[in-house]
Amino acid sequence: MAENINNDTKDIKESDTTTDNNEYEEVCYICRRPESVAGKLLKIQDSICICTDCMQKTFDSMSNGGLGGLNMNDMMNMGFGKMPNISMINLADLQGGVPQSQKIKKKKEKKEAPVLDIHSIPAPHKIKASLDEYVVGQEHAKKVMSVAVYNHYKRVMSDQKDGVEIEKSNMLMVGPTGCGKTYLVKTLARLLDVPLAITDATSLTEAGYIGDDIESVVSKLLAAADNDVERAEHGIIFIDEIDKIAKKRNANQRDVSGESVQQGMLKLLEGAQIEAPVGASSKNAMVPMTMVDTKNILFICGGAFPELEEIIKERLNKQASIGFQSDLKDKYDEDENILQQVTVEDIRKFGMIPEFLGRLPILFALEALSEDMLVRILTEPKNAILKQYQKLLAMDEVRLVFDEGALHAIAKKAKEKKVGARALRAIIEDFMLDIMYEIPKDDNIGTVTITKEYIEKTGGPLIQMRGLAELPGE
Ligand code: ADP
Repeated sequence: MAENINNDTKDIKESDTTTDNNEYEEVCYICRRPESVAGKLLKIQDSICICTDCMQKTFDSMSNGGLGGLNMNDMMNMGFGKMPNISMINLADLQGGVPQSQKIKKKKEKKEAPVLDIHSIPAPHKIKASLDEYVVGQEHAKKVMSVAVYNHYKRVMSDQKDGVEIEKSNMLMVGPTGCGKTYLVKTLARLLDVPLAITDATSLTEAGYIGDDIESVVSKLLAAADNDVERAEHGIIFIDEIDKIAKKRNANQRDVSGESVQQGMLKLLEGAQIEAPVGASSKNAMVPMTMVDTKNILFICGGAFPELEEIIKERLNKQASIGFQSDLKDKYDEDENILQQVTVEDIRKFGMIPEFLGRLPILFALEALSEDMLVRILTEPKNAILKQYQKLLAMDEVRLVFDEGALHAIAKKAKEKKVGARALRAIIEDFMLDIMYEIPKDDNIGTVTITKEYIEKTGGPLIQMRGLAELPGE
């Protein structure tokens, strides 16, 4: 998540310095409406523009004080620069203009090439192959996502002249924490080069309550797209922890945080014109607004759904108890990947409302990470953690080796923590600290081998001096 935020802010910063300010719409200094909404703006100072409505209102109120009868249209014909009294006030000195983060990119001329081109979207097998480079396992999830994304962008580019409208392929993924849900979405967005906003369902509240309005997710996407509305309209929004807005089971009170937030999200998921604040997460008088159409935004929701396994087991057991198999009642208790058998009905039972689920037609589950998968995560992905450490030590001309036993010991420790692959980093940082501190002290060290004993704190790493490492076969 942090990496993504960094990327996003980097993008915005870069655009601040490299893009031409002409690409951004000016915003009225008083009412904060952009030029496309408020009409032609008058430039008073370099960074201050005012719309004719606000200007007229100002003159109307000033007219009691002696400037009576001034009409904005006449003034515009006269040329504003000829107003001696006003040009003398340097408003820019009093307060800065509208910050870049709150400006909206101007709509491009229609003649330009479309933002997305069907030929530039890789075919599903290519999307999956690229995902394979980063994400270990999760074969089913990668396949489903590749096809869904491919179809989504085909739908975006199709016309509906023949009356056939392809349905949206919003997704709902279920999987234990740390199994790669966020990572999959981030990798996907990077491969497709579309803006991505990641948000947490727990921070969303119905309008009027403390917390982020539902529209704030669109603002985040807009920021990730460099305030370019057109690019944002083809982006991806990932809503994590979606299980936290399940309606409370067996509760009679009005449920502010759950069901009503799901209700509020319906139109967003389906596609609607949303008035989103620019450069802020909530609507207020000082923030400019812009309209964003969510019709072509791909929504992916994810959650761990902690007690869902019980619901699935109950259903499977019920099925099994009909007829002769009734003696197999606890056959699912040991099954770690019971989540794979999830159906819409199970999620509805969990507390998601049917209208909400209807708008997330693609439902799939991720596997819990096994010890072997954790070992592969350590070593295989393009930017695997161990590769990162090996690179760091290679700069000191030291070779870092992990023996097979060590890898399994790390994976075992991580598995005990029950937070998926997220535990790996903390475990490795813990024992690598000493290595990273001690090794550069001695220039003669050529190879360090991390052993199972070192991970289990019953021994130390194997150190080989330079020269000795160049034995035959090395
Ligand atoms: P969650 O499912 O809770 O959203 P994340 O996607 O945030 O979990 O995973 C946490 C970290 O674990 C990721 O940043 C990634 O480095 C690593 N990770 C998790 N699953 C995998 C996987 N299948 N392959 C490679 N790395 C993974």
